[in-house]
Amino acid sequence: MESILVLTHVDDSGASLAKTSLEAVTAGVDLAKRLGATLSIGVIGSNPTDVARASGTLAQIGARLLAVSGEIFAQARYSSDAAACEALCRAVQASIVVVPDCARFARVAAGVSFRLGGIIDTHISAIGGTEGVEVSRWFYRQRIEAVITRDTRPWFLLVDPGTHPAYESVLESADPTPANVEQVAVELPAQRTTVTGIRSPAQNGETIRPEAKLLFVAGAGWTKKQSDGQIHTSDAAQLILDFLRGSGASLGSSKSLVDQRSETHGVGENQQVLPFLTHLNQIGQTGATPRHRKGLSTCCYGEEPHVVGWRFISERRAISLDPNCGWARGKADVLYIADAFQVLAEMNGLLNRE
Ligand SMILES: Cc1cc2nc3c(=O)[nH]c(=O)nc-3n(C[C@H](O)[C@H](O)[C@H](O)COP(=O)(O)OP(=O)(O)OC[C@H]3O[C@@H](n4cnc5c(N)ncnc54)[C@H](O)[C@@H]3O)c2cc1C
Repeated sequence: MESILVLTHVDDSGASLAKTSLEAVTAGVDLAKRLGATLSIGVIGSNPTDVARASGTLAQIGARLLAVSGEIFAQARYSSDAAACEALCRAVQASIVVVPDCARFARVAAGVSFRLGGIIDTHISAIGGTEGVEVSRWFYRQRIEAVITRDTRPWFLLVDPGTHPAYESVLESADPTPANVEQVAVELPAQRTTVTGIRSPAQNGETIRPEAKLLFVAGAGWTKKQSDGQIHTSDAAQLILDFLRGSGASLGSSKSLVDQRSETHGVGENQQVLPFLTHLNQIGQTGATPRHRKGLSTCCYGEEPHVVGWRFISERRAISLDPNCGWARGKADVLYIADAFQVLAEMNGLLNRE
């Protein structure tokens, strides 16, 4: 019988599990039920009381709960996190290890798998199978879906964020019963890395928001000559930033638009660009394939290499002046043939009024 272990960690607040961890819990619970396998959940955190409280929401699952806690686990660090994960895997003799693909675990999962003589698959989007375990992942920029089975154990499955709903307790979430958690001792190697702090960009400067319900995509049309024969790049920048502020949307871009920035740095076309866009915003074949419930494309033609990045966006709308654009050919659910400058100004007015 498989012994399934889900690896989780406490979030920054210390009071609950990180969202990606709760998503992995859902995947592990579903798999254990289907296979009739034993399920264990390992929690990593700094304070044992916090870890027990965070684990309280898992008590009703009926899984074996284990924890590694201590001040040293407050911060992500390869040596301490890898040792903690290894100890949890050994404690339950795990044969399948479900791991959330978060920055903290993605860094150590392959190393832990190697230490245990196991094997790892990454970017798992679904876990299926009733007789055995079958996992799915996408290849070739999300064009080919593969279903993988393996005999090697332990098998580590790094599950992509957003592919499973976060596990929700039916217990009172405000005061979860502190769970009976087994503490697992970890033999730590000498620590060479000291975490002195975290530097991150200012919150209001971030345009990529993976948790947002809406993806707003800006295309190259925003910086092209408009009906008056002029370009209005600074108006475009203001409209887009106001919309992001008002709606909380995440900002994506077409390749043509982000390339303009590197062209001005490199070849020097002296073109006005949107200063807050980088290649990290690019959606498509050579860009990102984000997961948001809704998407709104503006001033973008909707060519295949761009739209391939919209694979996981369920509801799609586009605003374009071109009635023959790619979006019109079945790539959007709704296409507004309209001037995006006017539409966005109107929408920002409505958002400000709310
Ligand atoms: C190998 C390869 C990989 C690629 N990878 C990617 C990728 O990952 N991502 C990507 O995006 N592209 C990619 N491309 C490029 C892609 O094919 C397109 O060239 C690019 O997406 C076009 O960007 P765009 O639609 O913003 O610009 P354009 O094609 O210039 O379209 C601008 C649109 O804006 C509209 N418009 C202008 N003004 C307004 C207005 N006021 N209101 C409303 N609409 C307006 C115009 O009608 C036009 O339809 C790739 C290409 C190749 C060959």
